[in-house]
Amino acid sequence: MDEFDFINKITPKKRNHPNIKMGIGDDAAIYRPDSEKDQVVCVDTMVEGVHFLKHLSTPYEIGYKALAVNISDIAAMGGVPLYYLVAISIPNTWKESELIDIFQGMNEIASHYNMSLIGGDTVSTSKDLVVTVTVIGEVEQNVRTLRSEAEDGDIVFVTGTVGDSSAGLDILLGKYVIDDASIKEYLIERHKRPTPQVKAGRIISSVKRASLNDISDGLASELHEIAESSRVGIMINEEDLPISQELSQIKQTCDITKWMFYGGEDFELVGTTSPESWEQLKRLCNEQSIKITKIGYVSKKYTGVFLMKNDKDGEPLHKSGFNHFKK
Ligand code: ADP
Ligand code: MG
Repeated sequence: MDEFDFINKITPKKRNHPNIKMGIGDDAAIYRPDSEKDQVVCVDTMVEGVHFLKHLSTPYEIGYKALAVNISDIAAMGGVPLYYLVAISIPNTWKESELIDIFQGMNEIASHYNMSLIGGDTVSTSKDLVVTVTVIGEVEQNVRTLRSEAEDGDIVFVTGTVGDSSAGLDILLGKYVIDDASIKEYLIERHKRPTPQVKAGRIISSVKRASLNDISDGLASELHEIAESSRVGIMINEEDLPISQELSQIKQTCDITKWMFYGGEDFELVGTTSPESWEQLKRLCNEQSIKITKIGYVSKKYTGVFLMKNDKDGEPLHKSGFNHFKK
C-alpha cells in the first residue's frame, strides 16, 4: 500500500466549509475561526483489542464510532462540530479496502453534521490498529456547560435512554443471550452506532446555566464527575431513569442496573440546571422532539452520588464504570 495513494483516496472531493483555507494536501491545515466564537477541541483514541475487536465490528462501524465519540464530547460542551483530523497507525494485517471503509464510516457521520476532514497522519505500526480522531468545533463565547456548574437545588436530567449500548455489547460478547431478533438488533445498533446529542447540547447551552457531561464511561461515573467538580451531592431516583421500550421488555431477565449505571457508551447527555431553566429546557426539547428526563436533584448538604429507591434514604452509588474487555 502506498501512503500517498492512500491519502489521495481519503481526501474529500469537495470542500464544504468556506472557512477552510487549506485542507488536506499541505504541511498543515488552515481554517479561519469565527471571531465571535470560542473554539472547542477534543481528541480520542480507539485501540484495536481495547476499544473494539476486529471480529465484532466492521471497519465501517469502527470509523463511524471513532468520530461519533468525539462529536459527543463537543456536544457536551454545547458546541457545534466543524472539522476533524485523523491519525491512523496501521499494522500490515489490515487491507487497504478495510482502511478506506474506516474513513467511509467516519464520512457518513461527518456528512450528517456537515463536518470536513482537514488533515491527519498515516503511519505503520507492528501490531494493533490505532485510530486517533481530533474534532474542532465552536461555541458562543458566553456559553460554559462545565462539570463544575451544578448548584444546590438543581434538577438532574438525562437525554434519551440509558443502558442500551451496554446491553448491546454484552449481547455481542455472548454474555447475554436473547432470542428476540428485533430487540437484539436494536441494542447492538445502539452500541455500534451511537448518536451524539449535538442538537440537545445546543439547546442545553441556550439556558442560563447548566452543568453537562456526555455518557461515555457510564452514568454513575459521569454523575460523580459533576458532583466532584461542583462539590455537591447528586440524588438519583432509580425508577425515573429512562430506558428504551426494548430494554424494558427484557428487564426481568437481566442486570439492568449494571447496564444503566456502569455500562457507558450511551453518548447521551447528563447534567443539571436550575428548576426555572429546567422548565424552559423541557419545553425547548419537547418542541424539537428530543427526549429529556428529570432523574434527580442536587443538594449541597451532601457530597457524592446517592441512589434513592422508592423514595427511601439514599445509598451511595459507586463510581466505577464498567471496564470493557477487562476481566
Ligand atoms: P507531512 O509529512 O507534511 O506531515 P503527510 O505526508 O503526513 O505530510 O500528510 C500529507 C497530507 O495528508 C497532510 O495534509 C495531512 O494532514 C494529510 N493526511 C495524512 N494522513 C492523513 C489521514 N490519515 N487522514 C487525513 N489526512 C491525512
Ligand atoms: Mg505527517
